[in-house]
Amino acid sequence: MGAVPKPFLTLGGRTVLERALRAVVDPAEVHAAVVVAPPDHVAAARTLTAAFPKVSAVVPGGEERQESVAAGLAVVTQAEWVVVHDAARPLASADLVRRVLRAARETGAATAALPARDTVKVVTEGTVRQTLDRETIWLTQTPQAFRASLLREVHERARRAGVRATDDAALVEAFGGTVRVAEGEVLNLKVTTPEDLALAEAVVRQQEGPGERRTGIGYDVHRLVPGRRLVLGGVGIPFDRGLVGHSDADAVLHAVMDALLGAAGLPDIGQHFPPEDDRYRGADSRGLLRDVVARVRQAGFLPAQADVVILAEAPRLAPYLPAMRRVIAELLAVDEGAVGMKATTTDGLGAIGRGEGIAAQAIVTISRRPA
Ligand code: MG
Repeated sequence: MGAVPKPFLTLGGRTVLERALRAVVDPAEVHAAVVVAPPDHVAAARTLTAAFPKVSAVVPGGEERQESVAAGLAVVTQAEWVVVHDAARPLASADLVRRVLRAARETGAATAALPARDTVKVVTEGTVRQTLDRETIWLTQTPQAFRASLLREVHERARRAGVRATDDAALVEAFGGTVRVAEGEVLNLKVTTPEDLALAEAVVRQQEGPGERRTGIGYDVHRLVPGRRLVLGGVGIPFDRGLVGHSDADAVLHAVMDALLGAAGLPDIGQHFPPEDDRYRGADSRGLLRDVVARVRQAGFLPAQADVVILAEAPRLAPYLPAMRRVIAELLAVDEGAVGMKATTTDGLGAIGRGEGIAAQAIVTISRRPA
């Protein structure tokens, strides 16, 4: 899955590692956690886990899983019980960690495992050699929990005897210990392939919703004068007058910009593009909106949706609304379906109704960008 180790991939705005760690440190009976990271990712793991008060150490791991667990175990000094969890299993629940710990108290060792739901066959060279009795087949997961002295002992014995195992429970078995089983979780999948990550993403989205969303409002009005080009929503519109302003006076895009900035909690466009700044004289507001979207992204958000209403007595704007909608959708990088675009007159009332100017209102929703 590329150069980034799986625990450092992002899942619904948080890394797989943070999610895996959250389940492990949540139970009150867990007092401290040691994170074992690839040697060249120790610094990154420290940064990511700094917000977890229970993390007591981040240490470099070894070539294989077994050495990595041993490296973590080496800095666990006072614990009576130890839970081992795979950082690539982001969806394990804290309750599962508690269940495995409880089961371990019976014999000193326990693993999470699920009964096989499919029939398991032994296959070599593309040919079935044997069908196993499904009743006795369980698929192991982590977390696994152990009396600390037992786990230390089997790791030491395995090191001396050159015994390799793909999980810690197997080391206990190899030296005659008894491993109890706590029922695992179907969603406790190990992120190994891009499909696993997509599946985990779907689970997180379903469990947590789309994340934080915010809404902002924008309003702008400019005076109509002869001898100016009329530009609304980034679209040039044939008319005998145009809007006057420092930039191209595109009231529609200005309203969208202020709605975006407001939603992100940033100062309004007057602060970003001061009218006294000559750089913005006659500026194309599409460029300014592009700049605003970049600032909103920097603030950690992505545009999600916009709805715009133009207030104008004339010209008739309906034929130009689809083009404006396309421009705005493209600049916000959202589907056209996420942009509402409409125009209304004010029934001859007020300054807009007398045709002295054109106004626009916009509401924009933004969503927290996955980190
Ligand atoms: Mg304006």
